[in-house]
Amino acid sequence: MPDETQTREAMEFDVVIVGAGPAGLSAAIRLKERAAEAGGEASVVVVEKGSEVGAHILSGAVLDPAGLDALIPDWKEKGAPVEVPVASESIKILGPSGSLSLPVFAMPPMVRNHGCYIVSMGNLCRWLAGQAEALGVEIYPGMAASRVLYRPDGSVRGVVVGEMGIGKDGRRKASYEPGMELCGKYVFIAEGVRGSLAKEIIGKYALDADAEPQKFGIGLKEMWEIRPEKARPGHVQHTFGWPLTDDVGGGSFIYHYNDNTIALGFVVHLNYKNPYLYPYGEFQKFKTHPEIAALLEGGKRIAYGARAIAEGGYQSAPKLAFPGGALVGDSAGFVNVPRIKGNHNAMLTGIMAAEAAYGAIAAGRAGDVLEDYEIAYAASPVRRELFKARNAKPLWSKFGTRLGAIALSGLDLWTNTIIPGFSVFGTLKHGPTDAAATEPASRHKPIDYPRPDGVLTFDRLTNLAFSATNHEEDQPSHLKLKDPSIPISVNLPLYAEPAQRYCPAGVYEVLTDDDGGNPRFQINAQNCVHCKTCDIKDPPQNIVWTTPEGGGGPNYPNM
Ligand SMILES: Cc1cc2nc3c(=O)[nH]c(=O)nc-3n(C[C@H](O)[C@H](O)[C@H](O)COP(=O)(O)OP(=O)(O)OC[C@H]3O[C@@H](n4cnc5c(N)ncnc54)[C@H](O)[C@@H]3O)c2cc1C
Repeated sequence: MPDETQTREAMEFDVVIVGAGPAGLSAAIRLKERAAEAGGEASVVVVEKGSEVGAHILSGAVLDPAGLDALIPDWKEKGAPVEVPVASESIKILGPSGSLSLPVFAMPPMVRNHGCYIVSMGNLCRWLAGQAEALGVEIYPGMAASRVLYRPDGSVRGVVVGEMGIGKDGRRKASYEPGMELCGKYVFIAEGVRGSLAKEIIGKYALDADAEPQKFGIGLKEMWEIRPEKARPGHVQHTFGWPLTDDVGGGSFIYHYNDNTIALGFVVHLNYKNPYLYPYGEFQKFKTHPEIAALLEGGKRIAYGARAIAEGGYQSAPKLAFPGGALVGDSAGFVNVPRIKGNHNAMLTGIMAAEAAYGAIAAGRAGDVLEDYEIAYAASPVRRELFKARNAKPLWSKFGTRLGAIALSGLDLWTNTIIPGFSVFGTLKHGPTDAAATEPASRHKPIDYPRPDGVLTFDRLTNLAFSATNHEEDQPSHLKLKDPSIPISVNLPLYAEPAQRYCPAGVYEVLTDDDGGNPRFQINAQNCVHCKTCDIKDPPQNIVWTTPEGGGGPNYPNM
C-alpha cells in the first residue's frame, strides 16, 4: 500500500462516473443534455480502465433498442453503428449429433428478437463516447478507478484513478505516479458485472441486505469470419443442451453480422456443482457439434474474450442509491436472463440515475442519497421486465434445462405476459451463492475434454492471444488471496482446485514437481481478461479481484 501522505491532485466535478460501458456513457450523456436544456452546466467525467473506450466491452450482442431510443431518439440519423436488424431466429435443443428446433412463434414474446439489432457493443460504446464528448463530457480511457474515497460523514466523495508505478513487491518504482482524486457531488459506479468498487460499496452500505444473492454465468465468446455462402446476415440462433448436461445451466448464441462475421458464444451458469467442469472446455466441445462445425468449416477465429454475466435479475437487485452516488447498469445487475439482454437496461438505469442526480444538483444538493433514482427504478420498464422474468433462473437452477428452463419457465413467462406479473410460482428464491453451490470433488467424476485441434478448437493460451490482453509485467498482482495457503491446503484436496478450470484465461495453475509432489499455486495475473469469475466462483471466496492499478486487460477490437 503506497504512502497516503503523498499529495494527490484532486479535481472536482458535478458527477464522476466509473466505467465507459453503456450504463456509464448513457448517464453522462443524459446529465449533459439535462444541464443544456436548463441553460446551465454540469461537469461530468468518465474514467475507463480499458486502453480505449470499448476495449473491455464484451456482449453477444443482440441489442433491444429501448435504451438507445430513450437516450438518442434520432440515433439512426446520427449514424449509430446499429445496422443489422434481426431478420430471422432459431432456438434449438442440441443432442450430441443432432438438434431439435423449438417453434419460435410459440415462444413468449419477451424472448423473441424481432425489432432488435445485432451490434458490436464495443463499437456502439465508442460511438456513444463520441456523442458524450461532443456534449462536453470528459472521458479518460486507460484510467482505472482503484479506490473509493469517503467524506467524514461516510458518504462517497470520489475515487482514486491512475495510481501507477508500484512494483510487484508493493514498493514504489522510480516511475511512481500517485494518481488523482476525482471527486463529485455524486459518483456513479458503472463498472459492469461484479465491479470491485461496487462490491466494496454494496458491502459498506449493506445495499443487498434485502436482496437475494447475486447469481452469475460465465460467457465465452469468439468472433469468426465464416465462408460467405454460410453467412445469414441478421440471423440469431440460440441453443440449449449438449455438451452441457441437463443439470448445468447455460447455452450458446450465434449472431450473424452483415460482413461474413459471426459472434459465437457460450454461457455456463456459475452455480454448477461439479468442480471438474471446465466452462472453456465445454465451449470448445460445443464447436465440435456437427451443425456448428459445419458452420465454422473454412472460417477463421478472429477474436476471443470472456466476461461474467449477471443473472440474479429482479430478486438480486440491491438498493441502487447510496450516500453520494448510485449503482447503474450491471454494477447492480439488470440482465434479463431468458433474453440474455442487459445493455438496454444498463442504458435505462444510467438515464434514470442521471435524471435524479441532475435534479439534486439543480436543487443545490450533494453527497446525499438519490432517492428519486430508487423511485424511478421502482416504476420503470426495467423493473417490470425483470419482474416478469423473475422465475426463469430459479426454475432453471431447480429443475434443470428441459423441465425448468424450457417447459416451466416458458409457461411462467406466458402467464406473466397474459396477466402482467402473475406467476403460479409467486417469486422463487435463487438459493445459495454460486461459490457455495460448488460440491466436493469426491462426489463427482472428472470430465473428459477433447484435445484442441488448432483449427476448430483452441487451447486457452492460444485463444488468449486473440483477446490482445496485456498487463504491465512489474506490478502487484491484482488478484489477491485473503489466505495464500487455501488453494493448496483446502481447495486442492476438497475441490481439485477448480480455479484451474473456471478461469477462461489460464490465470490459475497448480504446479508440481516432476513426481507430482510439492503442489504450488501460481497466479499468472498478466493473463487476466477481467471476467471476474474467480471472484465469484472460488468456493471459500478467498480470491479477491481488485482493479489493476496500471489498468491493463484485454484490448477487444470489436466485441
Ligand atoms: C457473453 C455475454 C453475452 C451477452 N449478450 C448480450 C446481448 O446479446 N444483449 C444484451 O443486451 N446484453 C448482453 N449481455 C449483457 C451485457 O453485456 C451487459 O448487460 C452490459 O454490458 C452491462 O453494461 P454496463 O455498462 O453496466 O457494464 P459493462 O458493459 O461491463 O461496462 C463497464 C465498463 O466499466 C469499465 N470499468 C469497470 N471497472 C472499472 C474501474 N474500476 N475503473 C475504470 N473503469 C472500469 C469496464 O472496463 C467497462 O468498459 C451479455 C453479456 C455477456 C457476458
